[in-house]
Amino acid sequence: MYSDLNGKVAVVTGGSKGIGNAIAKRFGGEHMSVVINYHTDEVGAQKAAKVVEDEGGRAAIVQADISTEEGNKKLLDTAIHEFGGLDVWVNNAGMEIKSPTHKVSLEDWDKVIAVDQRGVFLGSKTALDYFVSNDKKGNIINMSSVHEQIPWPTFASYAAAKGGVKLFTKTIAMEYANQNVRVNAIGPGAINTPINAEKFADKKQYDKTVSMIPMDRIGTPEEVAAGAAWLASDESSYVTGITLFIDGGMTLYPAFKDGEG
Ligand code: NAD
Repeated sequence: MYSDLNGKVAVVTGGSKGIGNAIAKRFGGEHMSVVINYHTDEVGAQKAAKVVEDEGGRAAIVQADISTEEGNKKLLDTAIHEFGGLDVWVNNAGMEIKSPTHKVSLEDWDKVIAVDQRGVFLGSKTALDYFVSNDKKGNIINMSSVHEQIPWPTFASYAAAKGGVKLFTKTIAMEYANQNVRVNAIGPGAINTPINAEKFADKKQYDKTVSMIPMDRIGTPEEVAAGAAWLASDESSYVTGITLFIDGGMTLYPAFKDGEG
């Protein structure tokens, strides 16, 4: 546990399942107050809130589409009215749509960019405005991906969005570094969450994914949440503008692992 997180207020977008759910739980374990955003899964969000409370934290759930300004404002308003302010904002919500790039519809392209990139901008803007206007120490964590670095054919919209998140994160980290706001990204590799359920149910695809990971296993949402807790805490007080890859070594060019080539 990180004692400085006790009593701090966090917003976690896309918190009803997957990585966001694990981050909310971990923040509960740090005795934080957590605004859990969900898009459609109210029951999942209610369950997540109960877990946060069981872990020793406080929780509020908020339906919001994080690709909109109103959605993000709703999250900040809840943090302020329910818990008295904001300390940590996690832009976790994300989505992907597979398609050969020459066939992708404009609608699908826009959908992915709206959630994965515009949502991160709007969430960050909302949090930054609060931190700066209130002259308050702040912390922003953006969920990127190994695909901010590794090209991903048939997922060009996702890779474009995450590549954008990488440089957006570094840019605002620099812009607000001397105003007591730290901004970092997390780049998960292959993590066992609903976004991958279909893929991992197929043994061939599962084995292929594992073969691209030097540690020879898929990661857990809890392992990503541990990174989020560290970045949120003062233990990382001199860290800003990084992407913390939590990927079992996936970004280490695993094809070279036999020392050949
Ligand atoms: P997930 O599908 O389990 O969860 C994604 C969450 O985002 C869901 O709760 C969903 O409702 C929410 N969401 C989507 N659109 C939204 C919107 N418009 N408004 C509000 N919420 C919305 O996936 P996950 O694996 O938990 O992914 C979480 C984040 O981690 C994403 O940004 C994803 O790109 C990233 N990531 C995941 C992996 C992985 O292997 N699971 C790898 C790299 C990056």
